[in-house]
Amino acid sequence: MALSARRERGSSRPPGAMHTLHFVAHLPAIASHGEKPPRARTGSARLVRGPPGPPCNKFADSQNACFDPRRAGRPALGAPAAVILLGMVPAMDIGPDGFAKSGLLMQPRMELCQTALPLDWYQPELQPYAEEFLALPDRRPETVLRWMEGYVRPALAHFGDSLLMLAHFYMGGEIVKVVEHFGGAVADSYALALAARNAPHKKVIVESAVHFMAESIAILAHDDQAVWITNPKAGCTMEMLAKDFMVLPVADQLQERYGDELLVVSYMNTSGRLKALSGRTGGASCTSSNAHLVVDWARRQNKRILFVPDQHLGRNTAAKLGMDLSRVATLPDPSRGAIDLAPMWKELDRAQMILWGSACGVHTIFEPRMVRWWQERGYRVLIHPESPLEAVRAADGEGSTNYLWNAVATAPRGSKLAIGTEGHFVRNARELGIQRGVEVVHLAEIPESGFGSGGCGCATMSRNDPPHLAGLLDLLRKGEAPSINRVLAGDMVDEITMRRDRLDAGERAGLVAQARLSLERMIEIVEAPAHGGP
Ligand code: SF4
Repeated sequence: MALSARRERGSSRPPGAMHTLHFVAHLPAIASHGEKPPRARTGSARLVRGPPGPPCNKFADSQNACFDPRRAGRPALGAPAAVILLGMVPAMDIGPDGFAKSGLLMQPRMELCQTALPLDWYQPELQPYAEEFLALPDRRPETVLRWMEGYVRPALAHFGDSLLMLAHFYMGGEIVKVVEHFGGAVADSYALALAARNAPHKKVIVESAVHFMAESIAILAHDDQAVWITNPKAGCTMEMLAKDFMVLPVADQLQERYGDELLVVSYMNTSGRLKALSGRTGGASCTSSNAHLVVDWARRQNKRILFVPDQHLGRNTAAKLGMDLSRVATLPDPSRGAIDLAPMWKELDRAQMILWGSACGVHTIFEPRMVRWWQERGYRVLIHPESPLEAVRAADGEGSTNYLWNAVATAPRGSKLAIGTEGHFVRNARELGIQRGVEVVHLAEIPESGFGSGGCGCATMSRNDPPHLAGLLDLLRKGEAPSINRVLAGDMVDEITMRRDRLDAGERAGLVAQARLSLERMIEIVEAPAHGGP
């Protein structure tokens, strides 16, 4: 049986580099959304006097290019805290909606960054909001929030308790603070995916993060919940290099050769189409914190695993499980065009695990010499497993975003930590550390020549800025929101052209069933009693 449940319309174009992913040649007409907005509530606002936050990192108009936090400014250890506490802090404040409150405090003089995108980066419908925003005299919360209030408060009053605003904590530009300021919630991708499912009274979900996260919410959402993304151009680099039209032909060939022995494990950073692939091959999805449990579960079934999309997480997981890495094969870089398996069959026949070749530059910059540099200066180095194996092996600890945050939140006073992960996250962790007397630095932020980049932030996620949020909420209230901002399970969006391929209702129902299977298997594996579950 071929794995491709459905071939992409207009997908004959070979895969190219992420900057040239104009892969949807002939798209169906975009359907209008037709949502009817529900009723009223008021949001709460909190403005706390305090010191200014760190200056802006303005790189959201690029792909995930590295930035230099030294130029962006670094708060000194011991300075008054610019307070940012994310949803993973122990003893979290749980709000009335059941969502963890980050504890973010809005400071009067901090800048709300990532806000000066070129006007032509905005959809035509959002350009009037962007023009107003760009004309504001400054980016201070007093100014920005006053402007946003004019649009956000009427939307909050209009939608009432049925509106849920969400943001991922990789979001730069302090958008996480804005979202919480107006009553929204901040979480990681797994918690975001469950957010709508666990709050059935929320009917309109507005997400400030990347597309696959919004789609995961849509996959698990109830039928009467509508998911919207504030900027459809916010794609995930790793996911963009693992589109279904790239992966499915390879998966077909692998299954032709290995039959039911092949099982697909899909990381959360995949589209619903790949989560569905995972579901229909008997596989499961995974996060960076449970990948080892899911891969171990697959191996105990004597399966040959295709791990998509992040090669580094796959390789680090294999190493963590003590697998023979000579039996872990890596497929060619998907940005270089169609993948020919013919020269690889000998290697693949030996392989217990086959890694898709995606990666994200935010984590691949880390090198063992960076780890050693900080260790020699008394720092404990902790790193995310999307980083290269050699750097992970050299580090003192590796783990998910949750693990990294908790390490800062619980480190003894006086500790020194070098963290290897996304730049905005490390900025936030640094500020948490300042409050706790813990020094936090970015692993790549080495003040010495010869070390290249000083760090990377998730530039694509940062494309969700205040005008996108205010504008979309206002357009939703008026029933005029652009259809392209609506996210349905199975949507494939070209983040460059903003063209979308949408499944019909029957195809979507099939995809949702298979993708949910994949996510539910992950939950079952993680919650099994052997893994500490009930
Ligand atoms: S940091 Fe990279 S992998 Fe993570 S969401 Fe952003 S683009 Fe995707």
